[in-house]
Amino acid sequence: MATIIDGKQVAAEVKARVAKEAQRLGDELGITPGLAVIIVGNDPASKIYVSNKKKACDEVGFYSEVIRKPEKTTQRELLEIIDTLNKRIDIDGILVQLPLPKHISEKAVISAISPKKDVDAFSPFNVGKVMIGESVFLPCTPAGVMELIKSTGVELSGKNCVVIGRSNIVGKPTALLLLQQNATVTICHSKTQNLAEVCSKADVLVSAVGKPNFVTADMVKEGAVVIDVGINHNEDGKLCGDVKFDEVEPKAGFITPVPGGVGPMTIAMLMENTLKATILKEKSSAKKAAKKQ
Ligand code: NAD
Repeated sequence: MATIIDGKQVAAEVKARVAKEAQRLGDELGITPGLAVIIVGNDPASKIYVSNKKKACDEVGFYSEVIRKPEKTTQRELLEIIDTLNKRIDIDGILVQLPLPKHISEKAVISAISPKKDVDAFSPFNVGKVMIGESVFLPCTPAGVMELIKSTGVELSGKNCVVIGRSNIVGKPTALLLLQQNATVTICHSKTQNLAEVCSKADVLVSAVGKPNFVTADMVKEGAVVIDVGINHNEDGKLCGDVKFDEVEPKAGFITPVPGGVGPMTIAMLMENTLKATILKEKSSAKKAAKKQ
């Protein structure tokens, strides 16, 4: 029987840490971290994600602002909004909820966010920083995955880690973060041959595919740490991950459930990044003030 990794609990611990630090910033410096979230269009899943982000901001004592724009918003209008937010002193983090309507280039929009406020860490600048191991912000979902692995107490150095999925927002950065912890990392994807065999050698298996029941028991090594990033709906419409939980759980050493695993961590790490952005802004203005004296 595996130990179930309680993502809600680990996320609550991260948020408590953030809330404490936010309180200290308020008491000592009179500043409140601020996050702006932009949502364009009416995607129902995006609406839920945005309202959860707002709720998390309230929980940790941040100022938050949700900017809702209609589907027909032009790229230019969106870039203007970002430009204004980049200049606002009360906004430390800017997040554009993806996906955007097809007529807007996600690349152009993400690149327009100031790297200092890019708390999702999706901009080329911050992606590059992660790549060379000098990250300011870690991408939220991969950072959440790493926190969950850390919570198991399993040492990553020298371990065989397999990530299924090579997206820019989950698979690739997760692999990089595992590598930075000295793991031996294999990235699998839709063209990988002998997937089950490769996965079955993993001490840590991270699945970010987006297909229900994709990871089966034969793909899992006895005692492995299994992290399920997938968010899917099964044939009954119930939320589920990529992992066939009932058959994998008895074989794994540690496993994340869906819901209640990686999902809550993504938002907790977003709060951590926003706090980091606030602290960096304060440090930089303190430096500037000292120079002027
Ligand atoms: P994506 O569609 O961009 O990437 C999916 C990856 O799966 C691709 O790299 C593809 O090569 C790989 N893949 C597809 N079929 C495969 C196969 N047969 N064998 C091996 N690999 C295969 O998706 P994404 O944005 O990386 O998200 C992946 C999943 O994680 C989705 O379910 C998404 O909803 C979920 N997600 C969850 C969170 C969270 O907070 N929990 C955050 C982001 C994404």
